[in-house]
Amino acid sequence: MKSLLLKDMDRLLAALAENRTLYVPTDGAGGAEYRLYQPGTPLSEALNTNRSAKDFFFPQTENMMRFQMRGKEIRIEEPTRPDEDFVVFGVRACDARSFELLDKVFLSEPVDSYYQNRRAHGVIVTRCCGRPEETCFCTAFGIDPTAPGGDVSTWQDDQRLYLAANTPAGQALLNGVAHLLTDAPETAADDAKAKTRAALANLPIQNLPLDGFGEENLLAIFNDPRWAELSRACLGCGTCTFVCPTCQCYDIKDFDTGHGIQRFRCWDSCMYSEFTRCAHGNPRVSQVERFRQRFMHKLVYFPANNQGDFSCVGCGRCLQKCPVSLNIVKVIKALGGEKA
Ligand code: SF4
Ligand code: SF4
Repeated sequence: MKSLLLKDMDRLLAALAENRTLYVPTDGAGGAEYRLYQPGTPLSEALNTNRSAKDFFFPQTENMMRFQMRGKEIRIEEPTRPDEDFVVFGVRACDARSFELLDKVFLSEPVDSYYQNRRAHGVIVTRCCGRPEETCFCTAFGIDPTAPGGDVSTWQDDQRLYLAANTPAGQALLNGVAHLLTDAPETAADDAKAKTRAALANLPIQNLPLDGFGEENLLAIFNDPRWAELSRACLGCGTCTFVCPTCQCYDIKDFDTGHGIQRFRCWDSCMYSEFTRCAHGNPRVSQVERFRQRFMHKLVYFPANNQGDFSCVGCGRCLQKCPVSLNIVKVIKALGGEKA
């Protein structure tokens, strides 16, 4: 394990930014967001950013390719290949875990080369949560915020930042800033971890009833009459999907620039009435069906196809951002208990 005096934090960030693009969480008028590192900008101490670190690997909008049409001839220009080396600093354990879930989607056949390229060029430095909030429930999904993962994990006490590499890419990153770091015993971050565990023990939604979401209960959950009540207030605004680190739906569109066709993709939301609209219309015509789809996917379909892994990391963003206070915790509490 390595350590750094907190007063040298900006020197560390400046050194990381020398050879790669560096993104850090900073405070803004609307809360914390990841931004391009600027020397002297203080790191946000907010628990989490409004939008997750997913954006760096799966951006909200992304140009995919351009092509020209001359009569019946189509000339495709080289597809975009994102190849910028970058570091995302300060990712929490929940968001770090979201990449393992996104990998299952984007890196299985057919591989999404855009996401794959960004994963190959991005290094994730995580940060142990000092003050988890009442909306946090990552532990319900087996995530340990005191072992936040990523390529490099970091922990902090009043004086120092402690750093440990988890991957070759993380070790290479630390080697590049070795002149700023000193050796520390493996137990150096134990007090910081203990504080986080003590804070977690007092949070209200750490233990949620997830046992009932097994594949064997799929039809019973799908047909449960309580979906109508659970979804009644839903506005279909899609906010919950846009702030969610594990949502991965997108739409692909072509745009005539006047000098050729630009193909791009952008995030989409299963909460929208036009989502996956086909020639015959929309397969889910009511908001209750759309609402049910979102949570069936996260709690039943995804785990059924991914060795039991739920497609939620308990980050709490949807609890904080839904304008009518609907969220996945309410769904879990209502439908997640043991089935008869
Ligand atoms: S659950 Fe809330 S955030 Fe999500 S679409 Fe409905 S109203 Fe919007
Ligand atoms: S469903 Fe809500 S709590 Fe779960 S990962 Fe998405 S935004 Fe976070």
